[in-house]
Amino acid sequence: MAIERIVIVGGGTAGWMAAAALSRIKAGRPLEIVLIESEAIGTVGVGEATIPPFVGFNELLGINEADMLSAVGGTFKLGIQFENWGQIGDSYIHPFGAYGYAMGGISFHHVWHRMAKAGDPRPIQVFNLETMAACFGKFARTQDYRRDDLPPVNYAYHLDAGRYAAYLRRFAEARGVVREEGKVVDVALDGQSGFVTSVRLEDGRSLAGDLFIDCSGFRGLLIEQALGTGYEDWSHWLPCNRAVALPCRREDGSPPPPFTRATAHRAGWQWQVPLQHRNGNGHVYCSAFMEDDEALDILVGNIAGKPQAEPNWLRFVTGRRKKFWNRNVVALGLAAGFMEPLESTSIHLINTGIDKLISLLSLDGITRVQEDTFNRLTGREYARIRDFLILHYNATSRDDSDFWNHVRTMAVPETLTEKVELFKANGQIFREEDELFTETSWAAVMMGQGIEMGGHNAMADALDPARTAHEVNEMERSIRYLVGAMPGHGEYLARYCPAALAA
Ligand code: FAD
Repeated sequence: MAIERIVIVGGGTAGWMAAAALSRIKAGRPLEIVLIESEAIGTVGVGEATIPPFVGFNELLGINEADMLSAVGGTFKLGIQFENWGQIGDSYIHPFGAYGYAMGGISFHHVWHRMAKAGDPRPIQVFNLETMAACFGKFARTQDYRRDDLPPVNYAYHLDAGRYAAYLRRFAEARGVVREEGKVVDVALDGQSGFVTSVRLEDGRSLAGDLFIDCSGFRGLLIEQALGTGYEDWSHWLPCNRAVALPCRREDGSPPPPFTRATAHRAGWQWQVPLQHRNGNGHVYCSAFMEDDEALDILVGNIAGKPQAEPNWLRFVTGRRKKFWNRNVVALGLAAGFMEPLESTSIHLINTGIDKLISLLSLDGITRVQEDTFNRLTGREYARIRDFLILHYNATSRDDSDFWNHVRTMAVPETLTEKVELFKANGQIFREEDELFTETSWAAVMMGQGIEMGGHNAMADALDPARTAHEVNEMERSIRYLVGAMPGHGEYLARYCPAALAA
């Protein structure tokens, strides 16, 4: 059956990202794209920190970066600062760019380790541009200084989720996506194929489609409630299951830092996402180890300004749908699964889900091989991210609460154990398939939380010491030069994309 009508159910970040991206394939074809959303239900209202591939998503859509950031009060993000994770008092940055660059075919952290063993006192962080810029509150984009001898700047955005969805809505509607306001109350299935044929709205209207994209959030209106796809529960590995969000004013007049802050507490952690006009704050915790009242008290006691709204309480079960694509329904966003906001991977998974969907899509119809491929690739992606998230909880020496004792001693997936053991042996990190997180990401979190490299790749010892020392010194020098030349993040925002919040 040919695909002539795509129906997207849900108008949160997932729904409008899908609508905006699909509107690009609509051009010149008799393809209808309809998005249904319910103002009465609203969106989850969080999800404001992103990672670098998201910059590419916006670029592909042809969105003007400065215009978008200005409309959403956005800021730049060079990484995440983790506080109190390995032990109370610890602080490290997981940066977006790499530690140094490969030398003699081996990753820089091996070379650094060799030099450190030989007495070089410099921490690995000084060889990472994003970490150094973040520490000094500086920012610039690669295109601001066209010089081949300087490293590129890897960055993402912090944005106001509601404003970003509204921005994409304008974008998608201008390209022919039709928005329908209403609450879906029933889903009709074909008796033979089990395909979804239409959804019925509360006002009695019925909207038919050939392909349905379920962006209805945690409830998974089509993928779960109509098709009963099933959910793989990962709370034995990622036990946090509650969050309370509370945005606040930015009152102290200081410029927004170019990084997200993730501070570990007694039974979870708190995020701070700096926007131009406010800070997004929230406390993610595990209800088996903390009551809601205490979670809110901790949050209120640790935010930098006056709350701007009532607390937004959220409940979730970490895990994923057993299938992300089932018959003619593709789930994106929270309808597909949810792990943890810790490394800002949810919006990224929406992005890669859309990429895969568009790559596999044929307007001639839906085949089993499309479904299977989408599910296999997405499943692998989730599993790799899951392991990385578990690492943050498990790699700790904190023993100050039942929660930390639990996560420190819990059984973890074998794939993660292998990764940690290899790193402990000689610093080896294999980036599996096309996994999202880089060697630097794994090294940053492992070293940042107390896992030490027991040795390094033997090839590092074969590098010429004098030449290596010269190159490494040059590397540090060019980073210092560049960070010194960068403007402050606040100054950059004011010049490049000042918030246009009255718009
Ligand atoms: P929602 O925002 O819930 O949207 C669902 C849509 O479906 C709404 O429009 C709703 O009206 C509609 N709908 C539902 N039922 C019906 C119905 N019956 N009829 C009609 N319409 C209906 N991700 C990141 O990448 N970075 C972060 O920093 C981050 N932080 C997070 C913090 C927390 C605590 C949580 C829980 C999530 C976080 N996420 C983060 C995830 C992120 O919020 C989501 O991935 C993103 O907002 C997408 O949500 P969504 O569009 O899937 O769902």
